[in-house]
Amino acid sequence: MESIAHFIAGKRVAGSSDRVSEVFDPATGDPQRQVPLASPAEVDKAVSAAKAAFEGWSTTPALRRARVMFRFNELLNKHRDELAKIVTSEHGKTFDDAVGEVTRGIEVVEFACGIPHLLKGEFSENVGTNVDSFSIRQAVGVCAGITPFNFPAMVPMWMFPIAIACGNTFVLKPSERDPSVAVRVGELFQEAGLPDGVFNVVHGDKTAVDAILTHPDIAAVSFVGSTPIAEYIYRTAADNGKRVQALGGAKNHMIVMPDADMDLATDALMGAGYGSAGQRCMAVSVAVAVGDATADDLVSRLGPRVQSLKVGPGNDPQSEMGPLITREAQQRVSGYIDSGVEQGAELVVDGRDVRLQGYENGFYVGGTLFDRVTTDMKIYQEEIFGPVLSVVRAPDYGAAVAMINEHEYGNGTAIFTRDGDAAREFASQIRVGMVGVNVPIPVPVAYHSFGGWKRSLFGDMSVHGPEGVRFYTRLKTVTARWPTGIRSGAEFVMPTLG
Ligand code: NAD
Repeated sequence: MESIAHFIAGKRVAGSSDRVSEVFDPATGDPQRQVPLASPAEVDKAVSAAKAAFEGWSTTPALRRARVMFRFNELLNKHRDELAKIVTSEHGKTFDDAVGEVTRGIEVVEFACGIPHLLKGEFSENVGTNVDSFSIRQAVGVCAGITPFNFPAMVPMWMFPIAIACGNTFVLKPSERDPSVAVRVGELFQEAGLPDGVFNVVHGDKTAVDAILTHPDIAAVSFVGSTPIAEYIYRTAADNGKRVQALGGAKNHMIVMPDADMDLATDALMGAGYGSAGQRCMAVSVAVAVGDATADDLVSRLGPRVQSLKVGPGNDPQSEMGPLITREAQQRVSGYIDSGVEQGAELVVDGRDVRLQGYENGFYVGGTLFDRVTTDMKIYQEEIFGPVLSVVRAPDYGAAVAMINEHEYGNGTAIFTRDGDAAREFASQIRVGMVGVNVPIPVPVAYHSFGGWKRSLFGDMSVHGPEGVRFYTRLKTVTARWPTGIRSGAEFVMPTLG
């Protein structure tokens, strides 16, 4: 079986620990590759390579670093389909969806091409007589990224293009479930002219992650994944003196108001609920219908559409939805559907028994729709991360908003309405980080920043856009006087300059 390599100091490096994990083809359920699980010594090798590269890279003029980013951007565009194919083969999402993911990642590289402009500092002339002051942002050092399975290309690209453009060096620990695309991206970056050691990929599980979190030479850690792990990463990395941003799980609600365009709302829920088999942190998993008439209308439109969703392997152009990532994920999602039934939700479409000819062992769950879900149910409270949409009936707008504000997660949310007043109030009052108005998946573009509230993000800064630049740089403020200026002799009081 093919063994996936680490990517350290510009080269593919075979794993040397005796631990490996299997990488499956979720469409067939067959193992297809092996991924090495790094030991702390292998993590140290990657960190040492990144540390050795830092001095040269951080002092390379930003314009030259940008030129490498421009070439990287070109290569990514040239290899977009190849990268998407790798994503589909290990993640299972449809090829078109994988192309979309790679494209959203490339958009962050496009943003990072503007790094000379983004790193421009601030200057104040004459803050005191003949004294000037300027602020600059400098690279923080070796940065690490720990990423989830659900966007194996895009989520790492939320992080390392900006970190590296800012002058940092980087060690990526991608998900061990679909690790191959990260290595290929590393090779393309190298081909673009990136010096050895600036970008490294090391595969692994908790052992590798813990080695990163406690490594004295890592300055900053970016994490995206589930909430319990995000919280652990945040606490452990902070305890070890690192700057950290840790993005967690989600339960995204979409309010459908009685005046909404119901065709638009139904299409939106189909794409946002079932795209990528619901394995998106911005997937809509709860539709909050305001009023029973709205709910009845919505469920009668959604039911037949969910029933006829085309589930199949990601490389079949007919498939609208692929399999889940693992057998355990398939069983976990089926278990949630069982629990919804047991707790009294109305199962409108049941996806538990999907069997595909020729793909009997694939990790499929069909589109599933629940009506009359209530807030005390497990399927409402917990992140399912599968193709299961719950319709909750709210008596009025206020009850719908309260529900969202009380939920432990605060990643994304949306409102579908024609009422500008309601939409404006919603955007202003809702306690969620990313808000859509008649937009179901309000993922910010690369030059804005992405991040949730509450238990969807631990740390102070979101990823990419201006917040990404802030996270991967630290501020230095210089106050300068030249000898020709006024001399006032030794001063023993707090200097006031003026
Ligand atoms: P996960 O938390 O299981 O894994 C994420 C990363 O953490 C992986 O690299 C994994 O190897 C590592 N990891 C797993 N267990 C660990 C442990 N015990 N100690 C240390 N490291 C560990 O998440 P996943 O299943 O790969 O991804 C799905 C989750 O990610 C969902 O909860 C989803 O909402 C979330 N997610 C969030 C966002 C966001 O922007 N907020 C984006 C994408 C995914």
